Amino acid sequence: MSHRRFAAALAAVVIAASGCTSADEVEPDRPVVLTTFTVLADIARNVAGDHLIVESITKPGAEIHGYEPTPGDIKKAARAELILDNGLNLEAWFARFVEGTDAPHVVVSEGIDPIDIAGDAYAGLPNPHAWMSPLNAAIYADNMAVAFAELDPEHAPDYRTNAAAYREELQQVQNELVAALEGLPANQRALVTCEGAFSYLARDAGLTEKYIWPVNAEQQATPRRVASVIEFVDANDVPAVFCESTVSDAPMQRVVEDTDAAFGGVLFVDSLSEADGPVPTYLDLIRYDASTIVAGLAGGHRP
Ligand SMILES: [Zn+2]
Repeated sequence: MSHRRFAAALAAVVIAASGCTSADEVEPDRPVVLTTFTVLADIARNVAGDHLIVESITKPGAEIHGYEPTPGDIKKAARAELILDNGLNLEAWFARFVEGTDAPHVVVSEGIDPIDIAGDAYAGLPNPHAWMSPLNAAIYADNMAVAFAELDPEHAPDYRTNAAAYREELQQVQNELVAALEGLPANQRALVTCEGAFSYLARDAGLTEKYIWPVNAEQQATPRRVASVIEFVDANDVPAVFCESTVSDAPMQRVVEDTDAAFGGVLFVDSLSEADGPVPTYLDLIRYDASTIVAGLAGGHRP
């Protein structure tokens, strides 16, 4: 048992001994929907309104690809009436996790047009980061509306209305991004990042994508890969490069040193921040990333 887990177990014993009832033990007054990570939970809350209780298994800032569910998570799953996961092999831990529960589960990326990860061990597997295109996030919201209507038919019209309103906000982010990028020279319409987490956003915004490593494998930032990114940045006169918030930007700083590109800032992908952080909701996250990308490529940069 890790120190962290031992401390958590100890805390649980102390709470039990003191006779306190944790919020988890109170019988919920509305159906509970459990999601695998914070981005899905936020989209789901926008669709659910007040009719459902939506929770996320992983917390803000958590590593979501290789997460290991705790006994507390399993307990949470037991009282959920619906579980939502991303699919596309994002949650490698998910199959093991749902084995012990009866709740139905719905894959919210159903119907998006998947992009394969290029090269290496991942070749032929879909890139899991589909929510990073606002157009795909709208499909997620629609899938959730259908799943919620099945769970709670009485409020089906509300779920449809909520998803449609949310879709409009996403379309606006998409339109603004595309319009802002239109003024750039074609060669500079390029999104250079540490990880290949932006394939969907790049495709749907008309950006050429270049990254140091494909997915979730920092150790793959080899000198050869860094050199290939440097060559791309030089050849295309790319004004700015970026890095995802969850990984080290050290390899990208080497690109900045060796080229004329500026470091355009940190982009958020796999997790929302806490409520007082920069990206507490998915709309905040996608707007933050879009404005950081536009500001970087248009010559400025975010500190
Ligand atoms: Zn990721």
